[in-house]
Amino acid sequence: MNKKFIKVYKELDIEDVSQHLLIIGEALGTCNHCSQLGVDPKIRTCPGCKTEFRYATFSSSKDKSSQIVKIANARDLIFVDYEDYRHLIGEIKAKKLFG
Ligand SMILES: [Zn+2]
Repeated sequence: MNKKFIKVYKELDIEDVSQHLLIIGEALGTCNHCSQLGVDPKIRTCPGCKTEFRYATFSSSKDKSSQIVKIANARDLIFVDYEDYRHLIGEIKAKKLFG
């Protein structure tokens, strides 16, 4: 066994991701659902809207795998790529506006 973090591609419902996403910045997180700031990345439920965090993403450019180690050991989250998420949610919004 030689466990390492490696990026994988998986088909996900982006709207479900959006509802249950914790965006982690330099240290603390933001609930993507209600925009609650200062969320401890180790908690699983938003203190603002009580949404359950099932996905997390890192908005900062710090080394992501070392950040994941700190958080993933404590909880069972799916980490999504921030740029991918932003790109896909932008496409969905554009489709809703112009489609
Ligand atoms: Zn919230």
